[in-house]
Amino acid sequence: MLPSRDNPIKRNRKIGTKRAGYRKQSDFRIPWQGRAPFYENLESAELYQREINGKRYSFAVEKLKRGYRHICSVDEICDVIKYVPEEDLEGLSLIVLRQPKKKEEIFSPCWGRLQYDYKYGNRTQPAILLEALDLGRPMKIRKTGISPFFRKELNRLEKEGAEILNDKRRLTVRITFQSAKNIQLYRTLLHEVGHYVSYKKGCRVNCYEENEAYANRYAAHIKSLLPPAFEHEAAFRAEGKGRKAVKKYFLRNTP
Ligand SMILES: [Zn+2]
Repeated sequence: MLPSRDNPIKRNRKIGTKRAGYRKQSDFRIPWQGRAPFYENLESAELYQREINGKRYSFAVEKLKRGYRHICSVDEICDVIKYVPEEDLEGLSLIVLRQPKKKEEIFSPCWGRLQYDYKYGNRTQPAILLEALDLGRPMKIRKTGISPFFRKELNRLEKEGAEILNDKRRLTVRITFQSAKNIQLYRTLLHEVGHYVSYKKGCRVNCYEENEAYANRYAAHIKSLLPPAFEHEAAFRAEGKGRKAVKKYFLRNTP
């Protein structure tokens, strides 16, 4: 047994000191403003209000940096949220379309997240955050160490329209605007609602994979409630085509 005064984690006197090189690492720290976590630093966000199933929602849309796009529009999000049972969204009424910081992306490229106590203005409330993406930069993943769980995620991305190139050492994932929309609008958004539902029900599952599986199942269920041609309509909007083109398409393609 170790003597109690020994800290078993601190094996080396240099750990945590400048000599161990922590200075170098801290150059990559994500800057915090005040005490708010990095995802609460909304810079010049515009606020929109919409009513969905008789309830008012706020959308904070952050100004974009060069090369980035918000993948879903406020109205497209409303069109999907409409299909979520009202009680599942009780207490949640803020959606943030967010511009990630470059430094964050290095560590956590991500489509969206649920924040249980998001500080916006002078209120703290739950919020769903959907990240803007720079689609010009493919995601590169080293092949060694891809877990079976992540492998499943890659398969899902491929089904949703992502192009995955396989070379000797790494995978390159390219995502078009439309595939990004498929992912963020019909999966991420609903997946985060799924996390909210399990949080409200008090399901505190400590297993990350179980949590994720629950949220994925929830998203798939709500997606199954959407009309089948829904994704096509979003595709038309994404390409800037007007309502007439959408109507024409539906007349042709409705069974
Ligand atoms: Zn999740």
